Amino acid sequence: MASSTPEQNRSPELRRDPLNNRWVVFSPARAKRPSDFKSKSPQNPSSNSNSSCPFCIGNEHDCAPEIFRFPSDPQYDWKIRVIENLYPALSRAVEKDGYPSCGTSCQGYSDRVVKGCGFHDVVIETPVHSVQLSDLEPREVGEVLLAYKKRIEQIKECEFIKYVQVFKNHGASAGASMSHSHSQILALPVIPPTVSARLCSTKEYFDQTGNCCLCEVQPKDLLVDEAKYFVSIVPSAAMFPFEIWIIPRDHSSHFHDIDSEKAIDLGGLLKLMLRKLAVQLNNPPFNFMIQTSPLQVTDSQLAYTHWYLQIVPQLSGVGGFEIGSGCYINPVFPEDAAKVLREVNISNSM
Ligand code: AMP
Ligand code: ZN
Ligand code: ZN
Repeated sequence: MASSTPEQNRSPELRRDPLNNRWVVFSPARAKRPSDFKSKSPQNPSSNSNSSCPFCIGNEHDCAPEIFRFPSDPQYDWKIRVIENLYPALSRAVEKDGYPSCGTSCQGYSDRVVKGCGFHDVVIETPVHSVQLSDLEPREVGEVLLAYKKRIEQIKECEFIKYVQVFKNHGASAGASMSHSHSQILALPVIPPTVSARLCSTKEYFDQTGNCCLCEVQPKDLLVDEAKYFVSIVPSAAMFPFEIWIIPRDHSSHFHDIDSEKAIDLGGLLKLMLRKLAVQLNNPPFNFMIQTSPLQVTDSQLAYTHWYLQIVPQLSGVGGFEIGSGCYINPVFPEDAAKVLREVNISNSM
């Protein structure tokens, strides 16, 4: 008979995430030990071959038009390129001198149908095919984050854009179609439902407690690591096993207000979290999302909106229960996942 572990002796529990107003069912009986979680579809390291990859340096002609590159001086090789998506989800608005401007054709027609105008860009994070984001130095990861910031600042000139979603898909089962390290920026003419739900629940929390949810001190047993300006935690009602949030210590509503020093600090912590997940979970496919606030928020909303970066390793698919109920079953208690991640030794694998 299989013996049960301390984690499996925990009773199931439902927890509500006060930030997103979502219930999560913690069901340790469905789990192996937290430390035994491994990805079944690990990402093979990318090959060095670049002959057919449009994102590799030298193949720029196979890409949709460039928006900007870093460094911008053409006498140096580029390190980061922000380009238009060849297959954009939304039709691009006009861009003049690198800045978007909207024509009347982009205005909505009702509250149920809006024209599919927006921006869908790709951020190529490195010129080299075999290099992953977590292989870069903290300063270089910071430069990628500053490329997101610069592009958001350009896009926000366009009044009809309401929300900018930055995200990364890594690995086929996390939705990636290209193996060259990249992320995406999708600027929408509407506020997505998860963002409006978050606005409502953080307002409710603020009205009841006088505090911003994410400014509150995080319980020690949920902490994974700390940097000067950011902390990383497993959220108390994590939807997915080993989900991580990186949260700015100081209250800040918008990711795009980040400065260079904070971007390098965040770059270091993001790199560390990605390395830890790779070592602990057998290089799993993952997504990360920058959960920021709508571009236009009122002064009162600024008090309770606090951005964070959410990292989700893809270890199990979403099933009928999740689709039907909007509730998630997570077999790993956040305190157990945080302990495992705190203790991962990555010194030999950096
Ligand atoms: P993913 O599917 O998450 O790997 O993201 C890769 C994105 O790159 C997709 O949204 C593609 O539409 C886009 N893409 C593929 N080939 C090109 C290309 N040659 N130039 C620009 N974007 C591309
Ligand atoms: Zn490539
Ligand atoms: Zn806050």
